[in-house]
Amino acid sequence: MRKLGLLIAMILTGIFYSIILLYFMDKPLFNNLFLHCLIMGILYGLTNFIIFLIYDKQLDKIKRLNYQLKSSLLMDNMTGLLNRRAFDQDINKVINYGVYSLIFLDIDNFRDFNNHFGHAIGDMVLKKVGKTIKTCVRATDRVYRYGGEEIVLFLSDCEKANAIKMAEKIRSKICQLDNGEFPQVTVSLGVSSYPDDGRSIHEVIAVSDKALLKAKLSGKNCTISS
Ligand code: GH3
Ligand code: MG
Ligand code: MG
Repeated sequence: MRKLGLLIAMILTGIFYSIILLYFMDKPLFNNLFLHCLIMGILYGLTNFIIFLIYDKQLDKIKRLNYQLKSSLLMDNMTGLLNRRAFDQDINKVINYGVYSLIFLDIDNFRDFNNHFGHAIGDMVLKKVGKTIKTCVRATDRVYRYGGEEIVLFLSDCEKANAIKMAEKIRSKICQLDNGEFPQVTVSLGVSSYPDDGRSIHEVIAVSDKALLKAKLSGKNCTISS
């Protein structure tokens, strides 16, 4: 509809120019003012419209590429989760959120796992862990690879009790993952919530990180909330 309007506007502009052009011509085309305006208007309008279509297509392509590029900048290639850059960007937008929870998750003894079975197998397990987490969260939750084999979940509109339930569901699913001929891995998780555990996202992050450390010190393969 927008394009049709543009085409009509261009043809009308062409008719207007064809009238101005009459000042520089002895007589109108075919000696007929109506035909002169109609032919010149359509020619001018169509030419401009075709040029517009070509540029519009290019612009669409550039917009699509720009979107893909922006998304890939925020994505972790290996796991398909959001990356640390996305996390750092998102936490600056959190200021006005209502209740939310954070889960910090880290694979237990992963260095030993890599040393025994190699990094390629470790990567395969890490990808599986990422996929498993995605199956446990809601569409509105955001899952980030925070660094190495540490993953952070941002659960908007989620109180601590529900976040703990989700963390436990993730933990139990991951320790049951089938890694074929390779052993299963376990994860430790730290949970914190706003506004219970801090007045800013940075405070809530620090509490979650501490809870994860406690989970590691408590023998791993467990969830600790602040
Ligand atoms: P802990 O139970 O205390 O977490 O022990 P850990 O050995 O898992 O220690 P840490 O959390 O510090 O793990 C870091 C190790 O995770 C180092 C490296 O071997 C492994 N790791 C980090 N990123 C990757 C990755 O992308 N692929 C693989 N295969 N391993 C990774
Ligand atoms: Mg670890
Ligand atoms: Mg780690």
